[in-house]
Amino acid sequence: MREVYLDYSATTPAKEEVVREMIPYYTKLYGNPSSLYGPGLEAKEGLTKARQQLADLIGADPKEIIFTSCGTEADNWVLEGIADQLKKKGNHIITTSIEHHAILHTCMYLQKYHGMEVTYLDVDEEGFVSPEALEAAITDKTILISIMMVNNEIGTVEPIKELAAVAKKHGILFHTDAVQALGNLPIDVKDLGVDLLSMSAHKIYGPKGIGALYKRKGVNMPSFVHGGAQENRKRAGTENTAGIVGFGKAAELARVNLDDHIAHSRELRQYLWDQIRDKIDHVRLNGPADFDKRHPANLNVSFSYIEGESILLLLDAAGVSVSTGSACSSGSLDISHVLSSIKVPMEVINGTVRFTVGDFTSKEDIDYAVEALVKVVDTLRRVSPVTGKEGW
Ligand code: PLP
Repeated sequence: MREVYLDYSATTPAKEEVVREMIPYYTKLYGNPSSLYGPGLEAKEGLTKARQQLADLIGADPKEIIFTSCGTEADNWVLEGIADQLKKKGNHIITTSIEHHAILHTCMYLQKYHGMEVTYLDVDEEGFVSPEALEAAITDKTILISIMMVNNEIGTVEPIKELAAVAKKHGILFHTDAVQALGNLPIDVKDLGVDLLSMSAHKIYGPKGIGALYKRKGVNMPSFVHGGAQENRKRAGTENTAGIVGFGKAAELARVNLDDHIAHSRELRQYLWDQIRDKIDHVRLNGPADFDKRHPANLNVSFSYIEGESILLLLDAAGVSVSTGSACSSGSLDISHVLSSIKVPMEVINGTVRFTVGDFTSKEDIDYAVEALVKVVDTLRRVSPVTGKEGW
């Protein structure tokens, strides 16, 4: 059976070039980068190179890159760190209703245990945050604005430059969760005017368990993990040297191949959407209709009358991997906070599937996946209590 992976926003396979660079750091270059003798210094060189590679991908200075264990840690650190650092100035954070749980659940934690107040901005029906709404939500207690660059479910690319300009005008720090944007859009932190930006390696063909935070020079906050003096005293713990080196290589490949990657993703995403629209009735595209304003590989589609989880399971049986928009990552049947925020009608919200293509996806993969999807949707609609047999 053919296997077709269409869930590149969940994670990506590490590229062979990436793994090749990592292996020596497990076997030969295994020194502790904090050690002052040869093997330690060699390991440290790997970190220095990776920091430069990642900085080059986002137009930062390497000193502004701090490695973390994942994107989630970077998000948690920013919210908790700035809340602590600026607690004398205020206790109000602004974010949006469609953030990843790494942001939303940290905000809820800060509300519950640290007396923070959080405004969750509404978005429009395509998932866009308006700079005017942001400006209207600012109070004299606002200390941080955190708005994601690209939404992980519906692919909306937020107007970060405009939003960051609003923050700057009011002297408020601006953070963006760029986990889905990294390697999928050109990013220049200076041009965007952001102060803090979260990243993760496993979304850009790097290893899992390694992330990073861009922290603009001059932005201060306490460390999140306390202990040794690693990462310029900002993030304690012996570095995941191989992971960092892999992240660096993945960042370099992402920078060099960015245009081709975007063009390939867009072409296949369009091919997939054209076929779905042609071959399956009663479908609804969620997120921006203008494909230039969404993640290049993302397609989020609701299929009326049937359940996304059933589609996922039957597609899996045919070797095709996708994710649903309605269930959260825990596997429960909770309705997606993103889809409800953009007001996807209740009749179709549970029939939502997210497809994301990637560098290893081919047209033949899409043909195979669509053929399977057509059969799956037909089968499910035949037994659907809503449509009934041949119901429409
Ligand atoms: N933020 C967004 C937008 C994401 O999509 C994800 C992962 O899906 C994360 C944060 C968490 O990143 P990590 O898996 O590295 O913790």
